[in-house]
Amino acid sequence: MSITNEINFSRGDKLVVASHNPGKIREIQTLLDPYGLHVLSTGEMGAPEPEETGDTFEANARLKARASAEFTGLPALADDSGFCVAALNGAPGIYSARWAGPDKNFDIAMSRLNEEMGSATDRTAWFVCCLSVAWPTGKVLTFRGEVWGDAVWPPRGDKGFGYDPMFQPTGHAITFAEMEPKTKHGISHRAQAFRLFVDACLRS
Ligand code: IMP
Repeated sequence: MSITNEINFSRGDKLVVASHNPGKIREIQTLLDPYGLHVLSTGEMGAPEPEETGDTFEANARLKARASAEFTGLPALADDSGFCVAALNGAPGIYSARWAGPDKNFDIAMSRLNEEMGSATDRTAWFVCCLSVAWPTGKVLTFRGEVWGDAVWPPRGDKGFGYDPMFQPTGHAITFAEMEPKTKHGISHRAQAFRLFVDACLRS
């Protein structure tokens, strides 16, 4: 089998989404809808969630995808994403979800971020999404999407989630949380990583 065939999906092929989060699974299902894949989730297949022990987005996406492919015997897709701030050397980065604490309180996470930035004049910030697809053969491909802009204060908007209210992408006068979801999804880190995945594995 050539490498090109190994990484290509056809209509009806099974793909496991490595997540127990129904919101994330729905979002990925919607993105994959046009390609006719049979999308399953690790949650429904009883696969355990591995600990995110990697120290990069890539490493965490890979380990989640590999664990699911090994457990299910099917190709598996996983993502890892987060918010990075230049003045904090890229923090919170892979710890973005953890900064919100067990209650997932992003008001607290955003306040902490703003406090730690102090009077920094460089407000540069970016979102990262790494998407890994792993096959039971052990092959793994990873795609990285980024969107750059500024960390603004105070937070604005109520449409998004997580750090959206304090992120204003370059070239826009509104934050991710003030944008229509369709607009955000056109430029987001997640959309970019998905486009790379689709181009590599679903279109050729
Ligand atoms: P995970 O990828 O599910 O581990 O979570 C990444 C964390 O990064 C989320 O809990 C959010 O805090 C943050 N994050 C990732 N993508 C976005 C986004 O599009 N908007 C806002 N926050 C995001």
